[in-house]
Amino acid sequence: MIGLVGFAVIFGTGRWLAWPARWVWLMAWGWLVVLLVAHAPYMPAALGDFVGGEFRGWFVLGVLAALGLAYRAGLRRVRSRVEPKAEAARSGSFSPVELDRYARHIMLREIGGPGQKSLKSARVLVVGAGGLGSPALLYLAASGVGTIGVIDDDAVEGSNLQRQIVHADARIGMPKVFSAEAAMRALNPFVEVRPYHRRLDEAVAADLIADYDLVLDGTDNLDTRYLVNRVCARLGKPLIAGAITQWEGQISLYDPARGGPCFDCVFPVRPAPGMVPSCAEAGVAAALPGVIGAMMAVEAIKQITDAGEGLRGRLMIYDALYAQTRMISIKKRADCAVCGGQHG
Ligand SMILES: [Zn+2]
Repeated sequence: MIGLVGFAVIFGTGRWLAWPARWVWLMAWGWLVVLLVAHAPYMPAALGDFVGGEFRGWFVLGVLAALGLAYRAGLRRVRSRVEPKAEAARSGSFSPVELDRYARHIMLREIGGPGQKSLKSARVLVVGAGGLGSPALLYLAASGVGTIGVIDDDAVEGSNLQRQIVHADARIGMPKVFSAEAAMRALNPFVEVRPYHRRLDEAVAADLIADYDLVLDGTDNLDTRYLVNRVCARLGKPLIAGAITQWEGQISLYDPARGGPCFDCVFPVRPAPGMVPSCAEAGVAAALPGVIGAMMAVEAIKQITDAGEGLRGRLMIYDALYAQTRMISIKKRADCAVCGGQHG
């Protein structure tokens, strides 16, 4: 009898004091072990009589409880995998829950229902799940971009968390793309997230980028930056690239297929190795990538919904230390090694 009372006390108190389910189950399993030990062959029979029941009974109860928990966990995993995809697959029309979610977008004249539909059917690839990728990915997911790809070969480190807000302390050590996927799914289960845990290199760049409508580059790696630009220019994909260092950030839309310059037009000479310090070497203000990354998301939304005027042919520079912005006009170069002679 005491055995059953023990379980009642554990579950009752857990519910009353709102303990985390994990604690309650841990205690219940602990109590079951106590009951099994009390009935073990070498234990005095009086102890077994005191707690009540018999060894076989408690053992069967344990097995049934374990099976029940395993079934529930399996079901939950299958559901979390199937439901968002099923929703995303129904592109074109919005469920009432989605309409409510995107209401503030739909009431904007420049976006409206058609713009929200464009966002839903849009496919955006984000290169790098770091400082710039963090806010960009979160806002793309929040705004309802239907398919979001993210490629990065790093894992989350403690020193990233000062600015890479898509990650979390509990996910240190996890590949960044899976950490970002978790945060984006938690924010909006109606979008499809495609994580690619690898470096974007020559071998995959063309095939991967061909699969998307728009690319956002937030990587701090120059090789990747020039590669992404080359492939985007060749495939005619618009590229929104942001960069940051210490207190200063910049952003532009490189779109040579529609008359704008490409990244190489503006930065034809690669800085010598070591000339451009990384965030790890030079430091960076925590919220700076938040500003530029969020701008990348805004420009992506505008590009997809054809709202307002984008940054094609303009490079925006933000100086956080003095709270100043500058706009620099940038032009296509006829002798550009990447896009020269392309599309007039
Ligand atoms: Zn160019």
